[in-house]
Amino acid sequence: MRCPFCGEEDTKVIDSRSVEGRKKRRRCCTKCGKRFNTMESVERPLLMVAKRDGSLEPFNRNKLIAGIVNSTKKRPVKIEQINALVDEIEAQLNAETAQAVSPDRIGSMVMERLMKIDTVAYVRFASVYMAFSDVEDFIRIIREMETESGEVR
Ligand SMILES: [Zn+2]
Repeated sequence: MRCPFCGEEDTKVIDSRSVEGRKKRRRCCTKCGKRFNTMESVERPLLMVAKRDGSLEPFNRNKLIAGIVNSTKKRPVKIEQINALVDEIEAQLNAETAQAVSPDRIGSMVMERLMKIDTVAYVRFASVYMAFSDVEDFIRIIREMETESGEVR
């Protein structure tokens, strides 16, 4: 790991811990003595998303969070809840497969969890994610929601 201050290649790890499946390391440069932190994905390859056109892109946590935040506007949903939801999805995907995951899969994982947090946010997210074209789609998803919550009670 190259030192960001002087460019020296030889840096020493002085502390290491796991954060969300990645290694957070505190390093010290052997040449200039400056200290810096790195986040390294040493344990497994980057989670990839296979888009509908067949191309791959790295799983983008911030993009997913932004999408969820959009659907929770003016709703009593805390950013901590959204972060926890995304953490859970990321951990589950990392645990189960090394292969690329489809956006559909990620979307339904979000919907599954959002439904339990806030139903309005859930419908909003579903409407964007599933690209609802008319009112029928809304009615259908609300019916599905009622059926699901009926099973819970
Ligand atoms: Zn240095």
